[in-house]
Amino acid sequence: MKTLFIAGISGSIGEQALEVLNTEWFKENVKLIGGSVYSNWNKLKIDIDKYKLKAVAIVNAQQNLPNDYNDCKIFQGEDSVEKAIQYCDSDISLIATSGFSGLKHTISAINFSERICLANKESIVCGGNYVLNLAKKFKKLIIPVDSEHSAIYQLLLGEVTIPEKIILTASGGSVRDIPIDSLENVTPKEVLNHPVWSMGARITVDSATMVNKGLEVFEAYHLFGVKNIDVLINRDSHVHSIVQFSDGVFKMHFGLPNMKVPIAFSISYPERKFNFNKPLLSNTKIEFQKVDYNRYPSLQLAFNILGNPILQNAFNAADEVAVESFLSGGIKFTDIYYIIYKTINKIQQEFSNSTGREFISLEEILEVDKISRTIAKQFILQ
Ligand code: NDP
Ligand code: MG
Repeated sequence: MKTLFIAGISGSIGEQALEVLNTEWFKENVKLIGGSVYSNWNKLKIDIDKYKLKAVAIVNAQQNLPNDYNDCKIFQGEDSVEKAIQYCDSDISLIATSGFSGLKHTISAINFSERICLANKESIVCGGNYVLNLAKKFKKLIIPVDSEHSAIYQLLLGEVTIPEKIILTASGGSVRDIPIDSLENVTPKEVLNHPVWSMGARITVDSATMVNKGLEVFEAYHLFGVKNIDVLINRDSHVHSIVQFSDGVFKMHFGLPNMKVPIAFSISYPERKFNFNKPLLSNTKIEFQKVDYNRYPSLQLAFNILGNPILQNAFNAADEVAVESFLSGGIKFTDIYYIIYKTINKIQQEFSNSTGREFISLEEILEVDKISRTIAKQFILQ
C-alpha cells in the first residue's frame, strides 16, 4: 500500500482524485492518510471520518476547531499544510491547491514525499527551475497532472530525442464563440460555464482569457526544456497535446477529456490502472484551429515573456488579483489582460537588473509575487 496526501482535497481536482481512489485497483493499493483545505471544514470532516485520516490542515478555519478530531491531528493557520505534509510523511503527495499558495505545499511535498503528483501549475510557473532543481537534488519524482503536460510526459516516455516542438491544445474556453467586440460585457456567470471541462473558478476564467494556456506554456518550457512551443485550438479537447520530431513525426495524445485519467496516471505510474470510456474512432474528426491573438492577447503576452521567471511570476500574480476582481464585479473581463500587461511592465522596470535570470531562493519568489500583487491592485483601483 502506498500512502497519499491530497493538498486541496475539497477542490475540483481533489474531489476527482477521491473518485479515482474509490475505484478497484486504487482501493487496494493506495491509502489516503491526509488532506488540506483553505476553509472548507464540512468537507474535511467527512473525509476524516470516511478515510480515517492521520492528519489534515485547514488554513483559515471559520470556527474554533480542536487540535484532534476522531484520532486525526488538525493543523491550523498559515503554515498548516506544510506541517500536515511533514507529519503525514506520505509516499505520494497530490498538490491540487489552487493558485500561488500551492508553491509552498509543493516544496514541502518535495521534502517529505517520494512522488509529487503536481496539479498546481503555479508551482512551476512561479518557481521555475528553482522547484525542479530542488526535486532533482532530493531525487524526487514530479509527475504533472495538468492534462496537456501529463499527455506530453506520456508521449515522451521511452524517447531519447528531445522534440523540436511542443504543441499544446486548447479548448478556447467558455466565451470562444462570442464576437470579440462583445467580450468586454461578458459576465462572470457566462465565463464560468465551460463547454468541456468542469473546474475551479479561477482556471475556468483563465481558460476563457487563455491566461491558463500562457501558464501552461511556461509550465511546459520548464518541465520539458523545450522553448519552441505553439498552441492550437482543438474544440472538443480530445487531443490533449502533441510533440513534433525532426523526422516529421507528430505524436498526439488522444482520449476523452476527463481529469480523472491524468490524476490516476500520476498515482499509478508507471502502470495504468484506471478504467475509463473509449471514444469511437470511426467517424471521429480531429480538427485544429489557429489561435486568434486579437481574441486572446494574454497568450501573446505569455509568449513574449517566456523564459523570464520574474515576469512569469508577475504574470500569474497579476492574473490572480485580476480574476478575483472580475469575479466580484470589480473589473470587466477584458480588463484582466490590461492589468497583467501593466503589472508586467512595472515589474520589468523595478527589476530591470535581474529580469531574465533564474530565482535563487524561495524568499525571492515570494517577494516578486507580493510586489506584483500590490502593483496589480493599484492598477485595479485606477
Ligand atoms: P479549486 O478552486 O476547485 O480547489 C482549490 C483547492 O485548494 C480547494 O481544496 C481549496 O480549499 C484549496 N485552497 C485554495 N486556496 C488555498 C490556500 N491559500 N491554502 C490552502 N488551500 C487552498 O481548484 P482546482 O481543483 O480547479 O485547481 C487546483 C489546481 O489544479 C490549480 O492549480 C489548477 O490550475 C490545476 N488544474 C486544475 C484542473 C481542473 O480541471 N480543475 C485542470 C488542470 C490543472 P477550500 O475548498 O477550502 O477553498
Ligand atoms: Mg491544462
